[in-house]
Amino acid sequence: MNNSDIYRKALALDPLTEGEALQIYRSAPLAELMLAADALRREQAGDPQVVTWQIDRNVNITNVCISGCKFCNFHCKPHQSDKAYITTIEEYDAKIRETLALGGDQLLLQGGLHPKLDIVFYEELFRELKRRFPQLRLHALGAPEVAHIARISRLDPETVLLRLIAAGLDSLPGAGAEILDNGVRRAISPGKPDADTWLAVMRIAHRLNLPTSATMMYGHLETPRQRIEHLIKIRDLQAECPSGNYGFIAFIPWVFRSSGTRLEREGVVPDTSAAEYLRIIAMSRLVLNNIRNIQASWLTVGKTTAQIALHGGANDMGSIMIEENVVSSAGAHNSFDAEGIQQAIREAGFIPRLRNQKYEPRPWPLPGTADLTDANL
Ligand code: SF4
Repeated sequence: MNNSDIYRKALALDPLTEGEALQIYRSAPLAELMLAADALRREQAGDPQVVTWQIDRNVNITNVCISGCKFCNFHCKPHQSDKAYITTIEEYDAKIRETLALGGDQLLLQGGLHPKLDIVFYEELFRELKRRFPQLRLHALGAPEVAHIARISRLDPETVLLRLIAAGLDSLPGAGAEILDNGVRRAISPGKPDADTWLAVMRIAHRLNLPTSATMMYGHLETPRQRIEHLIKIRDLQAECPSGNYGFIAFIPWVFRSSGTRLEREGVVPDTSAAEYLRIIAMSRLVLNNIRNIQASWLTVGKTTAQIALHGGANDMGSIMIEENVVSSAGAHNSFDAEGIQQAIREAGFIPRLRNQKYEPRPWPLPGTADLTDANL
């Protein structure tokens, strides 16, 4: 099959085989890949003139983690009492008030695999946050955290998810997927649940109709084939999702940032080129024919590359992220406020539309927030 036949197959929403996807990933000119991915975005992602964006805040539950990911500068070990923290209710309260004042509707709650925080801790936390702020959406944890909480609470992951949903969990981020290959994961995240566990937890979440997203962190030890295999595993899991359930609402690839990480000290040099990022975005759109939203990660690649990605398969600019600590601690220092992200979308030739985590539109400006775009938090 030549490359044109493969594009035709992708545009017909016929799933590409691993060999077909690898062929165009390795050999097609970038402009050609982007053109095909853009054509598919216009078919798949709603109004082709619109690019969505979001306001949320990333708050870290704790920085204590036993996973030991070699790409992470954020975590510390349980015995590092000078660094270790667990965010207090008072701190959440202040951060949530700021987030709501800026028009945000959601907390992205993430943390480490803390050896002592079990299901009861998370149930109490989610219940208290929802008691104080019933309108707040909790996009929280991730498949590795769910598996970890299940292990230390002596429960199965389904029970953990059911109890977290009952306590206020609204959606499950795709964090911790990295590359869904057990060899790569053992090398970069020695203490993290394996690829099969990530997929198994997400399968349960889909069965329970909990909205989820999926991610990929590329550019470290993985091969091009493992990147394509990752995309196909995500697509195949989405194909198993019961009809009418949310499944993966979005896919977000980002590039490994090495600054100060253990992988950098071990000599791993990431491929941070804009061209490779744009190839990944285009391949995400072409392979993930059953996931509607592909997000440009401006935080890791910057404004200009994210804007170009909107013409090569991406239809979403992500969140202005009022606070982010994990990727920033490894050298990603881009930032946007609400006006800036909308301006960036307009400059790229699209109409910005605020959304929530389920990609449902929200009005902008929100009542009472019209003057807050210059707020300096
Ligand atoms: S990336 Fe997450 S799981 Fe890995 S060490 Fe950092 S906090 Fe822990």
